[in-house]
Parts: sequence; structure tokens; C-alpha cells
Amino acid sequence: MNMTQDIKHHLTDALLMAYSAGNLPEAFSLIVASHVSMCDECRARLGAFDTIGGNLMESCDSVAMSADSFEATLARIESGPDAASQPCARDARSFVLPAPVRDYVGGDLDAVKWRPVGMGVKQAILPTAADGSARLLYIPAGSAVPDHGHRGTELTLVLQGAFSDQVDHFAAGDVEIADEDLDHTPVAEPGQDCICLAATDAPLRFRSLLPRMAQPFLRI
Ligand code: ZN
Ligand code: ZN
Repeated sequence: MNMTQDIKHHLTDALLMAYSAGNLPEAFSLIVASHVSMCDECRARLGAFDTIGGNLMESCDSVAMSADSFEATLARIESGPDAASQPCARDARSFVLPAPVRDYVGGDLDAVKWRPVGMGVKQAILPTAADGSARLLYIPAGSAVPDHGHRGTELTLVLQGAFSDQVDHFAAGDVEIADEDLDHTPVAEPGQDCICLAATDAPLRFRSLLPRMAQPFLRI
């Protein structure tokens, strides 16, 4: 499957630039690294930002700095996205979790330690630095995540299946960027259970009492 052609919702330049500069919370960096591993377009844009930042991208093959690396970099930029995208960035085997997430989980989906959150929804919190929070979410086909708002930014990357909310439809590879202005109720599409990687830099605001009471225990 050529996932890149199916991706409609990409990372912003601001996120890619901040990632390139090393200025993102670890939880957001994980989202960016994961999307970039699935998306040729954002990988090429990130490559350009890395070059602008004076750093050669740490891609699959580490590039030794040499006298002609500057020319090589220029050639890579001039030859466009095709040259910047490395085939090794796409997994040869068919994993559900992208490589950056597998590093946190210690394996693919079968290694995830899910905890029930209610209504059939499960989550697994990933061990990232305290300036953000990253979790895998498992939403059964047709089920909803409780209606909520956001105090900061929430990035959600779809890894399997798809969900819809008040904004749009998000399928595998898509990133939704939510902020204070958005209240939404993500609902998994029927047919396939939806697995997402979600990252926040501040706790969510839940509308209804029950999730709000559970919030301290669920750490969402
Ligand atoms: Zn993209
Ligand atoms: Zn949200």
C-alpha cells in the first residue's frame, strides 16, 4: 500500500521546524517522527528544514560529514522530494506501529499493555518526558472517545482504521491538530477498530462528569 498518497492531513511547517530544531516536547516529537516515517511529503519537508537548520538529517543511513556533503545536500534539495525520501523509512514488514512507537512499546501491537478507559476504549501511556503526554488509544469500531476540549495542543495520528469528528475524517497516516478552540467527539469508523497515537501538552477538558472524575486516574 502506498500510504503517502492516502494521507490528507499533514504536519504543519511550524511543527516540522520545531522538531528539526529539537524544540518539541518528547510526546510531540514522537508524533512527528511517526508521521514522517509514514509520509514521504512531510519527510521531504523535514529534510529541507533540517538542511536550513544546518543539520543533516539523521536518516536511515547515517551521512558522514565530508567536504562534498554540502554539495550533496544541495543536490538532494534540487532533485526534489523523491530524492529526499528514503525507501528504508517505510517498514519492510507490515507493522501496525511505526518504528518510533515500537521503540517505546518494545515491540508491535501484541507488546502493548492496554488499560481499559471505559466504553470499550483502551489506552497505553508511553513513557515520555513530563512536558507532555503520549498514549496509544484503541477505539473499537463504531465507538466514541468522550466529548472533550483542550487546554493546550493535542496531536492525534491514526495508525489503523479511521475516525471522524466535527472537523473531518481521519484515516491511517492522518494527523489531527486540535487546540483550545476545538471541542470534539472522535468516533471510530465502523468496520475496523481504530488505533491512534495521541499526544498532549496539557490535560484535556471533559464536558461530562464521569470522564472528568476519572481523569486523574486515567492521566488524560
Ligand atoms: Zn505528511
Ligand atoms: Zn481531542
